[in-house]
Parts: sequence; structure tokens; C-alpha cells
Amino acid sequence: MDFFDAVVVGSGFGGSVMAFRLAEAGKSVCLLERGKAFPPGSFPRGPHATAANFWAPDHGLYGMFDVWSFSDLDAVVCSGLGGGSLIYANVLLRKPENWFPQDDSAGADGEYWPITYDQLVPHYKQVETVMGVQAYPSHGEPYRSTPKTAAMREAAHLLGLDWELPPLAVTFGNPGQQPVPGVPILGGEQNLHGVPRYTCRLVGECDLGCNFGSKNTLDLTYLSAAKRHGAVLRTGCEVRSFERTADEFAISYLKRPLDGDEDGPDHAERCVVRARRLILAAGALGTPYLLLRNRSAVPRISPTLGTHFSGNGDFLGFVFQAWEKRGGAEAPRLLDPSFGVMSREVV
Ligand SMILES: Cc1cc2nc3c(=O)[nH]c(=O)nc-3n(C[C@H](O)[C@H](O)[C@H](O)COP(=O)(O)OP(=O)(O)OC[C@H]3O[C@@H](n4cnc5c(N)ncnc54)[C@H](O)[C@@H]3O)c2cc1C
Repeated sequence: MDFFDAVVVGSGFGGSVMAFRLAEAGKSVCLLERGKAFPPGSFPRGPHATAANFWAPDHGLYGMFDVWSFSDLDAVVCSGLGGGSLIYANVLLRKPENWFPQDDSAGADGEYWPITYDQLVPHYKQVETVMGVQAYPSHGEPYRSTPKTAAMREAAHLLGLDWELPPLAVTFGNPGQQPVPGVPILGGEQNLHGVPRYTCRLVGECDLGCNFGSKNTLDLTYLSAAKRHGAVLRTGCEVRSFERTADEFAISYLKRPLDGDEDGPDHAERCVVRARRLILAAGALGTPYLLLRNRSAVPRISPTLGTHFSGNGDFLGFVFQAWEKRGGAEAPRLLDPSFGVMSREVV
């Protein structure tokens, strides 16, 4: 049976950074990810393949989109090497300084943060460097005339609101060069998939998986670095249970080939790995799920585990029937939604 200093469950933001830092520090690390690897170019686009791109092992589906349904809340999370970074909208905002209240009076609802913004600054900087953040280019064509960006900027001005281009983990241009769509990213093939990458072509498909490797997803950044430092990355490995003895964990998982037939049986092999440390980074739903299923291994866990959930703070809006004044008359305003990136501005 394998033994590691640490087993990390999940390869999203939490798990990837953790696997990298531990491996960099010389620890032996095994990362277990239930989903498969999606190298640039492998994200489905056709109707049939897209319809099958869901996580439902009981139906022989091992795709990216995992939909959870509760009585008052539905959630979409990602299954795949890189976790949510494969489907997220690339916006890497820092939490504003005034949202770190240090005493009860300062925080809404008595919220208290044991750390300060200043303490986090060096870590924010490190993450921004590894994730290669860039703002959506505001000068030059074709960026300057992106219709939906221009519309958001105009709307903010009309409403008297601040407007900014947020930091995005997307490569628009090579370092020190003007951004150009679709040119090879220098050194871009040095990733765990070994495939070339290209600068953003503005096709607006960020949330479906970027087939050009322009998104600086975790498989292309932290996980590639973790692998270079010797971390063992295992895909198709869904952790189901864990047990604790005095000084180690035994972690049981299902290993799947992930190329099963749609509506075919779930061919899974049971495996066990042991580790001195177990890090659960299976996401906001996956980690509580694992903890609730394995309460006996963590006897001192809080009874509030799995309660007080909310959706995230994003506001999802849809624009339709947009119009503008042209030659004194009202005319349809074309916003060309699939041109540009998924998210470009914060109001
Ligand atoms: C459409 C969309 C757009 C978003 N846009 C943004 C954005 O622009 N900016 C932003 O900051 N946030 C955004 N988010 C949110 C962001 O993606 C999440 O906050 C982030 O991914 C959470 O990271 P995590 O490591 O906690 O979990 P995840 O990224 O969800 O990773 C968990 C990983 O664990 C794996 N896993 C789960 N259970 C098991 C198990 N039992 N065994 C093995 N592996 C397991 C999963 O397959 C997954 O890969 C977006 C989310 C979505 C869905």
C-alpha cells in the first residue's frame, strides 16, 4: 500500500496550491482527483459530447459539470484536474481591505477576521504571479471595440458608478509584448499535458473550458509546478472514506478508467492509500459531504458542519432587447456576447 507525507483530496484552488506548496517543501504528496484531465483542445463543443459532459458515474458519465440540487439551492461545480478553474470566469479579485473586520463592532453581524489584509498581501501577490493575471486589454484592436465591454462602461458612467477592468487569469499577450490574439504563449508547452498554448482568441468560451490554453487554469499553473516537484497526481480517483489511527490516515477511493460507456456500468476498483496528513480540498460541497460521511474519523468536528450554506455573492444578469439611438431613431444594439472573454469588468 502506498504511503505519503500528505494526501490531498481535490485539485481545485485549495488542493492545487496545497499540493504545490507541500511538494515544494520536499514532502511526498499524492493528490487524488475524481475527474479526468482536460488538456487544451479536449473540451467538448458538439451538442452530443456537451450533453454528456456531466458528472454522473451511476450513468457512466465522467464529465466536468457536477450539478447539486437541494430544496432551496442548486449549485454547479466542476469535476476534473484543476477543479473549478476549468469552468470559472477567471476573475481573481482580492477581498477588499475593509472586509477584514478585526473587532465585533466593525464587522457586519459581528464578523471577525483573525488575519489582516496586510498579512495576506504577499500571498495574494504570489498567487497572482503564478496564475499570471492580466487585465483585459483596453487599447488597440480588437480589444478596444469589444461591444459588451463598451456597453458595461457606458452603463456604469450613466449610473455614476466606478468601473474597472478586473485582474483575469488569462494570457492575452506574452510578457513585454503587445497583446495579440492566437499567438503561441512563450514556454506555454511546459505544462503537465505537454501541449502548446495560445493567447486569448476572444471566443467567449471560458466557462466551457478553454480549448486554446489561454486560461491559466490550475492544471497549467500550480499542478504543473507541483508535478515538477514530484507530487503524484492521480485522476479518476474518488475518495469515499478515511480512517484515522494514532499517527496516520488510511484513505479509501474508487479508481475509475473514466472512459466508460454512457449509460454503461460504473467500473470502479477500490484502492487504499496511507498518509501522515490528510487534506480535504474537495470543494464547498464535496468536503462537508466527505466529513459528514466519515464523522467517526474526525470526532471533534463541529456539530454545525453542513449548515449555514448560501450561494456565492455573484450577481448573474442577462441583457436582452438592447437598443441604441442611431440617426435619431431607436435601433437594435448588438452586444456580440460571444466576442471577448467571459468576464471583463466590475461595476
Ligand atoms: C461557472 C463558474 C464561474 C466562476 N467564476 C469565478 C470567478 O471568476 N472568480 C472566482 O474567484 N471564483 C469563481 N467561481 C468560483 C470558484 O470556481 C470556486 O470558488 C473555486 O473553484 C473553489 O475552489 P475549491 O478548491 O474549494 O473547490 P473546487 O474548485 O470545486 O475543487 C474541488 C475538486 O475536488 C474534486 N472532488 C470533489 N469530491 C471529491 C472526492 N470525493 N474525491 C476526489 N476528488 C473530489 C472535484 O472534482 C474538484 O476538482 C466560479 C464558479 C463557477 C461554477
